[in-house]
Amino acid sequence: MKEVGFIGLGNMGLPMALNLSKKSIHVKAYDLSIGAKEKALDSGLEVKNSMHEVLIDIDALITMLPNDSAVEDVFLKNGVLDGLEKTTLIIDSSTINPDTSKKVANEALNKGLSMIDAPVSGGVKGAEQGTLTFIVGGNEQDVKKGSVLFDVMGDKTFYAGNSGSGQIAKLCNNMLLAIHMCGTAETLAMGVKNGLDPIILSEIMKNSSGGNWSLEKYNPYPGVMKDTPSSNDYLGGFLNSLMLKDLTLAEELSNLSKSDTPMGKLAKELYEELNEKGLKDKDFSSIQKKYLD
Ligand code: NAD
Repeated sequence: MKEVGFIGLGNMGLPMALNLSKKSIHVKAYDLSIGAKEKALDSGLEVKNSMHEVLIDIDALITMLPNDSAVEDVFLKNGVLDGLEKTTLIIDSSTINPDTSKKVANEALNKGLSMIDAPVSGGVKGAEQGTLTFIVGGNEQDVKKGSVLFDVMGDKTFYAGNSGSGQIAKLCNNMLLAIHMCGTAETLAMGVKNGLDPIILSEIMKNSSGGNWSLEKYNPYPGVMKDTPSSNDYLGGFLNSLMLKDLTLAEELSNLSKSDTPMGKLAKELYEELNEKGLKDKDFSSIQKKYLD
């Protein structure tokens, strides 16, 4: 895996592609946006003018796109599947509907190509530091082939099962993340309204049975932790718009599988409210703001 094509050079894709190129992997990159292409060029990446120039003589094609329609555009409308050699492994790291992943992977298979879904956890910081977690679905042999690249861009890879399973596991994780972030925010606010110091309360709960990732790593209450978005006006991090996208996908998954997910639905409503209030470009821990006023 020495020659890689990379499509989608946004907040996540650019640092991921740069980490590959730092490890002597030759990366040919492309993005639809002129701004993203310029930023990638300035960062030292080899950027192509058309998507099809990226597809030639590569061992793997990685895509890191915002949503289902972008993935369908690239693979089903732009003829990317026809432009690839049969030996090229396709790795889609976008977070999308598992059914879309399966549809595109089947289309690839019909053309003699292998495609795996490999959404990530770890955010922009993880992408920059090369510490992402890859959650992968597809043929196990293909996943093994891709793991040399996952090991450069991340520090953990989990095999979830057949095509689409990576997306299912990712959506389960993000639904749980939203639920415990919402619970953590409202609990901290209640403690503070009853006279507790948020730092002391956080320390108590973190070391008691209420402990969870939001309390340990990503406290939503301003000033409790340094270097978290909550202590920087909720800038950076994982945007409310993306969390709402993931909760919408989780709700679709829940409905399709007739799963009972009242907490997931409530978390989605809370994030809808936050997005409607104009906070879509703030970090998802800004759910805390709902309880501060
Ligand atoms: P982003 O919007 O910053 O980047 C997406 C890039 O894709 C943009 O540069 C856009 O121009 C490009 N693009 C869109 N359509 C295209 C097309 N048809 N052809 C070529 N390029 C196209 O998004 P991001 O934050 O980098 O997220 C990418 C994916 O990773 C999303 O699916 C997101 O849910 C997931 N994700 C994001 C985070 C995070 O913290 N940002 C964390 C985990 C997973």
